[in-house]
Amino acid sequence: MFDVIIVGAGFAGAVMAERLAAHDHSVLLIERRFHVGGNCFDEIDGNGVLVHRYGPHLFHTDDEEVWRYLSRFTDWRVYHHRVLAMIDGQTLPIPFNLNTLHAVFPPSMAERLEEALLNRYDYNTKVPILKLKQSTDKDLRFIADFVYEKIFLHYTQKQWGLDPENIEGAVTARVPVFVGRDDRYFNDRFQAVPTKGYTQLFNRMLRRDKIKLMLNTDFNDVLRVDGDQILFLDQPFEGKLIFTGQLDDLFNDQFGALPYRSVDMKFETVETESYQPAATVNYPNNYDFTRITEFKKIHPVKTPSTTILKEYPQDYERGVNTPYYPIFTDDNKARFDQYAQKAAQIKNLITVGRLAEYRYYDMDDIVRRALDVFNSIKG
Ligand code: UDP
Repeated sequence: MFDVIIVGAGFAGAVMAERLAAHDHSVLLIERRFHVGGNCFDEIDGNGVLVHRYGPHLFHTDDEEVWRYLSRFTDWRVYHHRVLAMIDGQTLPIPFNLNTLHAVFPPSMAERLEEALLNRYDYNTKVPILKLKQSTDKDLRFIADFVYEKIFLHYTQKQWGLDPENIEGAVTARVPVFVGRDDRYFNDRFQAVPTKGYTQLFNRMLRRDKIKLMLNTDFNDVLRVDGDQILFLDQPFEGKLIFTGQLDDLFNDQFGALPYRSVDMKFETVETESYQPAATVNYPNNYDFTRITEFKKIHPVKTPSTTILKEYPQDYERGVNTPYYPIFTDDNKARFDQYAQKAAQIKNLITVGRLAEYRYYDMDDIVRRALDVFNSIKG
């Protein structure tokens, strides 16, 4: 029998498995998919390009401990992500910054607007667009309205099926107006991608005698909750269950399904060496997809063709597509809280991860969280 059963082999589950195994606990890791890595899964495709099958994953962190921890399992290629947005036929750097301002507006106007921003905000600071929109200053309002209309509104409507005002501010604050000239997408100290990809990183994490990995295994086929007990193969399981999947799925949807947003990932081969000027180009206002990512720009390789990915947001349906993003409306959060209360009643159940906690964790955040959970239980 195992000391610990873990459901899900994404970052949350893999870090927990690695840490527990390193401390001599036997771990059964159950994964529904045919691969480890969760949505970080990547592989070399038919064009010889390393592609992220569930959308672009760019690692960035200010957390040195997380960086060092992951560095045990991978080499890194330093990589600073830059994103352009296609606005009125022009590609502009985003987050919207002082360079963007000068690319869009005539020089004298751009200078006046820059001055308005610098009078109000410190250099190199971020201002959430919904906050800028509340400015009383005429010039700041002008910038806010421009960015809101051209960059945020329609992208967010496509991505979430909701207006920006109806989703949690933390989501739209991820891409603020940046009062500076640094046009990298992230400003963290450490920015890189695993040289040979995330899948190799995960394989190295999980290569331990104490970890038994079962792929292609739906937890519902081996585990279930009965009152405040966990049953494994119909027998009471007294060890710890670390669950990183969807709580509604664990509790048979008893409070209704938890909504997530999904994305249809459509890969295309283009017979050209280079398709676009940056790794990612966002299309806020046209087309049904939100962005195009060209993976060669993340993992350079010399090949005659290139692989691009178009992301088409859609509603999530269990068993049909992939749950990517929790949808943070008040109703959904209340429903999640009901599940979280049920989970808290089971003394040997621990929930961790983007799905299980219904939170928009970045990769470094979830590694941090898993390390913290491990530290809290290791005794
Ligand atoms: N966003 C936007 N326009 C953009 C980029 C982002 O309106 O060009 C908003 C949108 O609501 C999106 C959120 O900012 O869901 C977070 O974007 P991010 O690029 O961080 O999303 P992820 O890469 O996690 O999908």
